[in-house]
Amino acid sequence: MSQAREVAVIGAGMSGLSAATLLQQAGLKVTLFDKSRGSGGRLSSKRTTAGTFDMGTQYFTARDPAFAAAVAEWVAAGWVAAWQPRLFRYDEQGLQPSDDRQQRFVGSPRMTALSRGLLGSLPLHSSTRIEQLQRRDQQWQLTDSDGVSHGPFDHIIVAVPPAQAVPLLGSASHLADPARTSDMEPGWAVALSLPHALDTAAEAVFVRSGPLDWIARDASKPGRDATENWVLQSTPSWAREHLDDDPQQVANALTAAASKVLGLAIPTPVFQHAHRWLYARPTVASDLGAMKASEQGLFVCGDWCLGGRLEAAWLSGQRAAKALINTP
Ligand SMILES: Cc1cc2nc3c(=O)[nH]c(=O)nc-3n(C[C@H](O)[C@H](O)[C@H](O)COP(=O)(O)OP(=O)(O)OC[C@H]3O[C@@H](n4cnc5c(N)ncnc54)[C@H](O)[C@@H]3O)c2cc1C
Repeated sequence: MSQAREVAVIGAGMSGLSAATLLQQAGLKVTLFDKSRGSGGRLSSKRTTAGTFDMGTQYFTARDPAFAAAVAEWVAAGWVAAWQPRLFRYDEQGLQPSDDRQQRFVGSPRMTALSRGLLGSLPLHSSTRIEQLQRRDQQWQLTDSDGVSHGPFDHIIVAVPPAQAVPLLGSASHLADPARTSDMEPGWAVALSLPHALDTAAEAVFVRSGPLDWIARDASKPGRDATENWVLQSTPSWAREHLDDDPQQVANALTAAASKVLGLAIPTPVFQHAHRWLYARPTVASDLGAMKASEQGLFVCGDWCLGGRLEAAWLSGQRAAKALINTP
């Protein structure tokens, strides 16, 4: 095999970017494909007339030493900063300050600063949904939803949520089967811009009662402007019950729930938007790590292979890339 092996990475979320950056450092030629307009996947920031909102990942923690070292590099590069909100917790007893002192990080000035930083100069075919993988003469050819063919590639890394991985992994049943049985929970996220600041000390709330899971005041995150923007996220079970509701009704219901949590009236928003995540987080934490069919040059990674957090997605991507690098 030639020295500059060609690799296609399908999915430019954290796991795909993690794999792609490691492969690039190892001297392989990497091309990314993503069905969205840019990179980041669930590490997502929505630009609106009322500012930018983190609609997916809210923050991340670093428990694994290798991930902690990567985060330190990202902080030094200015893509990421520590976030220490005034954290509260809400349950049947009401709203109380939380004593959780965990170190949290966010992309700065928005979450996608991290995915943009990682993408760097890597080639990305955006707005390109890969629908088929075909193996011919020891190489791979990819076909997108417009019927356009891409390749050939020596290896492929599939870095997409399980439901989207299954049709791509059809011929490799020992990779497709775990994907087929991996469930993801849905979630609703609401962006809320208010005409004036809410009279509350809370900057982030872990909600343990009612339809909400999480509330965060955007301006408490480093690098954001001072606009009174909030993000509200539903529990998976509430999202499942309200999956097909009208987004405006969802936004109103979750805003009313936030008013109850914070114990104050929320003024009529100047901007309100609800986003539905069909595949927000894995239902159960898996310990697959990453999967491989080395003889076919096919590898699989994603948060669903390791546990539903940004750190897990990064670690899974590293494992897939290392398995590929070690494949002759
Ligand atoms: C609402 C919400 C809140 C969250 N909060 C947190 C949090 O606070 N802390 C935390 O650590 N984690 C959080 N997470 C989880 C975290 O966002 C994920 O673990 C991580 O971003 C997953 O990365 P990934 O690369 O595995 O998948 P993704 O980010 O989903 O990336 C997969 C990519 O593949 C692309 N794709 C899919 N199918 C195809 C195809 N056929 N062809 C081409 N491209 C395709 C998609 O467009 C996407 O960009 C949250 C997630 C959500 C949704």
